[in-house]
Amino acid sequence: MREADSTVLGYAEDKGSRYYVVFSETVFHPRAGGQESDTGLAVWEESSFKIEKVLNISGVLVHRGKLLEGGIPEVGARVRLVLDWGSRYKTMRLHTAGHILDHAVRVVYGKVVETLDAHHSPPVPYVVYNARAPTAGELREIKRVANEVVSADIPVRVVYVEKEDLNKAVLYAPNLSRLGEARIYRVVTIEGANAIPCTGTHVKRTGEVGKIVIREIADLNGKFKLVYDVA
Ligand SMILES: [Zn+2]
Repeated sequence: MREADSTVLGYAEDKGSRYYVVFSETVFHPRAGGQESDTGLAVWEESSFKIEKVLNISGVLVHRGKLLEGGIPEVGARVRLVLDWGSRYKTMRLHTAGHILDHAVRVVYGKVVETLDAHHSPPVPYVVYNARAPTAGELREIKRVANEVVSADIPVRVVYVEKEDLNKAVLYAPNLSRLGEARIYRVVTIEGANAIPCTGTHVKRTGEVGKIVIREIADLNGKFKLVYDVA
């Protein structure tokens, strides 16, 4: 969803015509799970509110932004939420690329490599892997294997599974030991590559990702940071 109607549940004023607003539902993904917060607009009648950041505060999604015109809507007012689709779509492509890179690193290293940190949004998308840095030959292979998945244009599927079925649903997922407790898990599956518990936003097919480019490998003493992008 790029847009949705919603209702204002509450707001608090910040400095310089900035506000924190909570809506009854939202299409905005907060800063979480390796993704930067979505941005966009809330519009109603003669007013518009620029959403600059969405924070997950104890499970409540709080939209921080600036009033561009008009007044802040009353509690109970209906508003239209509109994502900045260009920046969200880029993050979707980058997040799917991150899962594809996990697959390529696993293929080249011959084992699932744990990830220690990741950022799947501009300006500098990266993943930190808990393994020694790749050799030049291994790096070429990582690029080749990753872009093979892109060219194959494989469907990216999202399934929801109960806790008891999680082990059957995942495939080559890193960091399972660090996974939080939940009753239902969301698993993002790239057929033949991996199936990873993930709450992030993804494209529908790997072809949408575009060519995966590796910008830099930083050797971090037994770990490495892979800086990437999508063309
Ligand atoms: Zn993910």
